[in-house]
Amino acid sequence: MPSGRVVAAHGRHFHVESSEGVVECVMRGKKGGIACGDRVRFEHIPSGGGVIEEVETRDNLLYRSDEMRSKLIAANVDQAAVVVAAVPYFREELLIRCLVACETAGIPALIVLNKTDLPETAALAEYLKTYAGLGYEIVALSARGDMSALEACLRGRTSVLVGGSGVGKSTLLNRLVPDAAAATGDISVALDAGKHTTTHARMYRLPESAIPLTPTFSAASGKVELQVAGAGYLIDSPGMQEFGLRHLDPAALMAAFPEIRERAGQCRFYNCRHLREPGCAVLEAAKTGAVAAARLRAYQSLMGQLSSGP
Ligand code: GDP
Ligand code: ZN
Repeated sequence: MPSGRVVAAHGRHFHVESSEGVVECVMRGKKGGIACGDRVRFEHIPSGGGVIEEVETRDNLLYRSDEMRSKLIAANVDQAAVVVAAVPYFREELLIRCLVACETAGIPALIVLNKTDLPETAALAEYLKTYAGLGYEIVALSARGDMSALEACLRGRTSVLVGGSGVGKSTLLNRLVPDAAAATGDISVALDAGKHTTTHARMYRLPESAIPLTPTFSAASGKVELQVAGAGYLIDSPGMQEFGLRHLDPAALMAAFPEIRERAGQCRFYNCRHLREPGCAVLEAAKTGAVAAARLRAYQSLMGQLSSGP
């Protein structure tokens, strides 16, 4: 059976890149789902195209879920780039939910603060220092300016770009992959009464020009030679309004907040949920500001939603 990688996922239709080029495939039956980035095996069908028969074991899977079902975002990625912006507004809860999903999936997350050309961004850059303190790398840039810091982070890796709509994800994608031709808000406003047009996940190869030459010592020649590092891949996901986390359990949720994870052993009760318990190290740290109030609130609200779920 031929094998390949899913480079576009739209409902039950997929584009699979294989040694014979891109093959349009469908999914057979009601299997668990297939994500952009999945490595699959498929069978050709006489009418053209193929049917995906098997999904190879994933290194990781980023997904969100509401009461109804889970929505697969991307599989087999090295990192997620979560895009935020101060304009039109900063949605911290969405950022936190994205980060929680990444932590749970074991995917390193990078925060991309876009629109640094706007004066509103300075305060957000300051505010995001909390996140730098938690260990998240932050890249601040303008999609209308110098992109080299982000390009350096994406080089040679497979990354997924996530973020709420309006943060500039399409604009960034068009800069990173000039032929992506993803409709930006400006265009879709004209065409489609403001509706955003990215409805499916797609994987792009980053252009060769973004590939750096890395000096590497060659044992064969005994000299330092310039080698081309691997290209990178970027998966663009539809801009999201919300990020459901119904699939998490309380233990996973606690483990997904670095500042809670590191204090868990210090609470009076071994099974402390850090809600109202006496002797809670997390609540104590929130009083002194060592744990950010907004992060604790988001954690507690997520925990409340889990406990009230079915
Ligand atoms: P998406 O919904 O995240 O894909 O956002 P778009 O790429 O469609 O951008 C939303 C709006 O923000 C558009 O009007 C863009 O022109 C604008 N925009 C994107 N990046 C920047 C930036 O770095 N600076 C400024 N000032 N505007 C930006
Ligand atoms: Zn506690």
